Amino acid sequence: MDCVFCKIITGEIPSKIVYQDEQVIAFQDINPQAPTHLLIAPKKHIPTMAELSEDDSSLSGHMIDVANQLAKMEGIAEQGYRLVINCGRGGGQMVNHLHLHLLGGRQLSSGLS
Ligand code: 5GP
Ligand code: ZN
Repeated sequence: MDCVFCKIITGEIPSKIVYQDEQVIAFQDINPQAPTHLLIAPKKHIPTMAELSEDDSSLSGHMIDVANQLAKMEGIAEQGYRLVINCGRGGGQMVNHLHLHLLGGRQLSSGLS
């Protein structure tokens, strides 16, 4: 499958992995938008958030748990941070493998655009 994040998961494409377990992987974004910009993705290929099924509810919950743990590890938990999931072209999703953006380490704008 021609999926950049699947290739990161198999190691075919190098990345700076900060955490992984059986279900998820977390790595640094190649084009960071904040001092902390990590991507948390499921190891199984799910194209978008819209394709999550009810069976995946523990997986999506686990992704958020991991993001919260990583925010603590990065030292940004107290100041605050942002989790973002872009869904589909109109939602700004460029890589069609579900992922959560963890952003922090600077003051983030209050607006969403
Ligand atoms: P999206 O717009 O799909 O929500 O976000 C995709 C993110 O993946 C972007 O922030 C982009 O910088 C990042 N990205 C794209 N290709 C690569 C890559 O090969 N390696 C890493 N580490 N990040 C990537
Ligand atoms: Zn994939």
